[in-house]
Amino acid sequence: MNLFDRIGEDDYEQVVFCQDRGTGLRSVIAIHSTTLGPALGGTRFYPYASEDAGVEDVLRLARGMTYKAAAAGLDLGGGKAVIFGDPARDRTEALMRAYGRFVDAIGGRYITAEDVGTTQADMDLIRRETRHVTGVSRALGGSGDPSAATAYGVLWAMKAVMALSSGTSSLAGTHVVVAGVGKVGTSLVRHLVEERARVTVADVDPGAVDRVRHDFDVDVAEADAAHAVACDLYSPCALGGVLNPTTIPELRCWGVVGSANNQLADDSCARLLAEQGVMYAPDFVVNAGGVINIAEELSPGGYHRERAYAAIRRIYDTTTAVLDTAKQEGITSAEAANGLAERRMAVLGRVQHIRTFS
Ligand code: NAD
Repeated sequence: MNLFDRIGEDDYEQVVFCQDRGTGLRSVIAIHSTTLGPALGGTRFYPYASEDAGVEDVLRLARGMTYKAAAAGLDLGGGKAVIFGDPARDRTEALMRAYGRFVDAIGGRYITAEDVGTTQADMDLIRRETRHVTGVSRALGGSGDPSAATAYGVLWAMKAVMALSSGTSSLAGTHVVVAGVGKVGTSLVRHLVEERARVTVADVDPGAVDRVRHDFDVDVAEADAAHAVACDLYSPCALGGVLNPTTIPELRCWGVVGSANNQLADDSCARLLAEQGVMYAPDFVVNAGGVINIAEELSPGGYHRERAYAAIRRIYDTTTAVLDTAKQEGITSAEAANGLAERRMAVLGRVQHIRTFS
């Protein structure tokens, strides 16, 4: 990879390579943008097949965080970090704390959080080396696991989609297929059942399905056919890339609203969905509840759950605005969401040129 060409292409601000021979730490921290504020994004601990694969992943994810934070109306930029290795085998206190010291050395331009392969306990270890970390345990003043907040945001995005299509935000009687009942999906099922929606779940892990069936009255679909179940809303809550040229023609829903990151296999899939008359609520708008919740930890008074959840409910307004813009301008919802984020960065970025002197 020609790194300067790659980071120039999408205008990344800073990429930091960190290594510590003593603990075996090898990490890359990518800051895509600090236009709106410090770059917030999780740390992924993953056994990448190659260095290039890890670098490409961290770059792609950091840029995604810029758009997610901007569209959510947060005063935060976008960043992400990866640690190379297998967390089950390579995680040690010393390695996490060495990583925390590198985060600290960036001086607050990057703020880290949990992601795939890292846990709240890891964030607590990092907290011992730096204050530039969120998602620490409640005992340390943090907001804990963001999954419930993410699910709550998905619920409010679904209400917005319902209101646009039927004039009422009620989900009562609506058939929703939740594909992936892990942390977010299970919490979402709880909300949907409370709203008296009809719920079908699917998961590759039979244990996950059993746990949900034990607690709730839901139907079950095969994981590889969940997208093709006739329903109102399809909610991908597992992996990315589930909306692709193969699956889109098989959809039998009128709306897609889910938590999974990077649901579209590529940009052209947004157009395919629109042509098929499927209302697609863009993933990074829908799944911003977790980052909104985490951002509350950074507010001057510290984390306050009611304030955080009130902010998450605004995903309803953002989803409505994005889908309305798409309709009015004849563009896809994905283009409308990108436009919303880019406009916010352009307009507020200019405000920072007004200089203050003390
Ligand atoms: P998780 O690992 O707890 O749950 C994912 C579930 O999906 C698991 O039960 C897994 O068995 C299942 N799964 C895997 N492949 C599947 C397939 N092909 N079909 C059906 N089920 C499958 O993860 P999570 O924290 O619940 O996150 C779910 C998605 O939401 C991910 O894409 C994640 O990146 C995204 N997301 C999560 C958060 C959060 O706060 N946790 C925030 C933003 C986005």
